[in-house]
Amino acid sequence: MDVARHRVLWLAFTAVQASCGTKLVIPEEPTTPQVASPGVPVPFANAGPSDVPTTAPPPGISRVIDAVDPSRIRQDVDRLAAFGTRHTLSETASATRGIGAAREWIASRLRDAAVPRSGILPLQVAFDSHRVSADGRRVTRDVDVVNVVATLPGVAESAASRHYYVVAHYDSRASDPNDATGDAPGANDDGSGVAVLLELARILAPRRLDATVVLLATSGEEQGLLGARGHAKALVDAAVDVRAVLSFDIVGDPRMPAGPPRPDGIRLFSEGLPANLEQTATVRMLGGESDSPSRELARHVGTLALWHGAEVQPTLVFRPDRFLRGGDHTAFNELGIAAVRFTEFGENYDRQHQDPRSEDEHDFGDVPQFVDAEYVAGVTRLAAIAILHLANAPAAPKHARIVALALAHDTALRWSPAPDQDVAGYEVVWRATTSGLWEHVQDVGAVTSVTLPWHKDEHFFGIRSYDADGYRSEVAFCDVERSPG
Ligand SMILES: [Zn+2]
Repeated sequence: MDVARHRVLWLAFTAVQASCGTKLVIPEEPTTPQVASPGVPVPFANAGPSDVPTTAPPPGISRVIDAVDPSRIRQDVDRLAAFGTRHTLSETASATRGIGAAREWIASRLRDAAVPRSGILPLQVAFDSHRVSADGRRVTRDVDVVNVVATLPGVAESAASRHYYVVAHYDSRASDPNDATGDAPGANDDGSGVAVLLELARILAPRRLDATVVLLATSGEEQGLLGARGHAKALVDAAVDVRAVLSFDIVGDPRMPAGPPRPDGIRLFSEGLPANLEQTATVRMLGGESDSPSRELARHVGTLALWHGAEVQPTLVFRPDRFLRGGDHTAFNELGIAAVRFTEFGENYDRQHQDPRSEDEHDFGDVPQFVDAEYVAGVTRLAAIAILHLANAPAAPKHARIVALALAHDTALRWSPAPDQDVAGYEVVWRATTSGLWEHVQDVGAVTSVTLPWHKDEHFFGIRSYDADGYRSEVAFCDVERSPG
């Protein structure tokens, strides 16, 4: 069956809620899907089938992202580069140069963003220090690797323990990774990501989000993900419930080495198999090797971007990272935490990890003039859309599963309800086993089981939660429930 016909047929069905499940009846007219709010362009929305919800997105989000200001982003990138170097082992005594001055400035900008919130804690800013011993490689002496952490405590009792992270690294490097004194402006890598973080702090700090949002500016990334590793390990040791990590690293220059620029896109990297994979046999049986929590997170961001008509649309890359490069999201992935990486398309390698200089009329160095603040503003709006949904939506349902107790040509699904008081219902998404992206969506209402007329042998299924405002959770990939033995 071709995809269009498949979708039209499915839209001929609607869900009728029942106390213990959902029955499907055929309405007189098929439902026409609505994508985004009127007047909002939706690039690529018609490029193929998708799981974009058929209702309008929460209107509150556009009010928040309208506040993103490229001129503040411009100032932040320029200021970060003006510290000369932010090398992890650079000096900490100067007020104007080196990583010590840089982190004090970042912390002060985050404190400036904190505004009173009636009856609840404002944005909390702290340093998070990890002593790292000399290793004879990229850590030439013992050093305190200091992250800057801004936490916006969640306000919903059932959701505040869930943490959603936005990460960028504020350290930089020159051509020699151990050169702690030479200029390393790091405007794009990763001044651009830190600028996203600072702007998010300003627009989110006054908000009352259900879950807790953490904005983490790491150090030691260039020396081996040191700050991210220290922070991630502490989270695991303290059993902090971290549901998602969005890392923004090199998100400032939409120009391509050849051809037209790509201001409307960004790459979004995600791992396929999680490091803490325990159910290998189940994954092999399900064919679920492309449905790790990180991969579902990446798909979720892609769906939200389409739904909201974001000006910067992510292109999903089903790979943990780029070749010959690393990033902080990996430190979280290694400990079993869902984490993805955003990076521009046409990385210019002459401007990364290079001493600023001219050679044969060729310029090297990661200097501010090659960071496009308007593009970074678009990336920030995309980040805000994602984090507002993640932090305001009910949790994804637990134990989402295909009930496979007997041979049948349809698909029975079952899941445990999200714990949130504001959960208003659930959507089922599904796709052909050969598709990388969810292709269909059906609102099934406030139920915890449903039977669909599609054959479970030929599709993957997932469930997501939503609240009355329309905030969507990540998709919970459907496992399988089989009879014992
Ligand atoms: Zn970087």
